[in-house]
Amino acid sequence: MLDPVCDMTVDLDEAREAGLTMELGDREYAFCGEGCLKAFAKRLAAQGSKR
Ligand SMILES: [Zn+2]
Repeated sequence: MLDPVCDMTVDLDEAREAGLTMELGDREYAFCGEGCLKAFAKRLAAQGSKR
């Protein structure tokens, strides 16, 4: 699975155990670290506030 922020390959099971996944609709995203998880959340928040 690809980290949507830095394009690094992330093991979904490991990311789940580390709490580094995010579900969005019917898709699940996994991140290499907390930094990318936060960056992704920030990006979503920025997109949401545009509407
Ligand atoms: Zn990353």
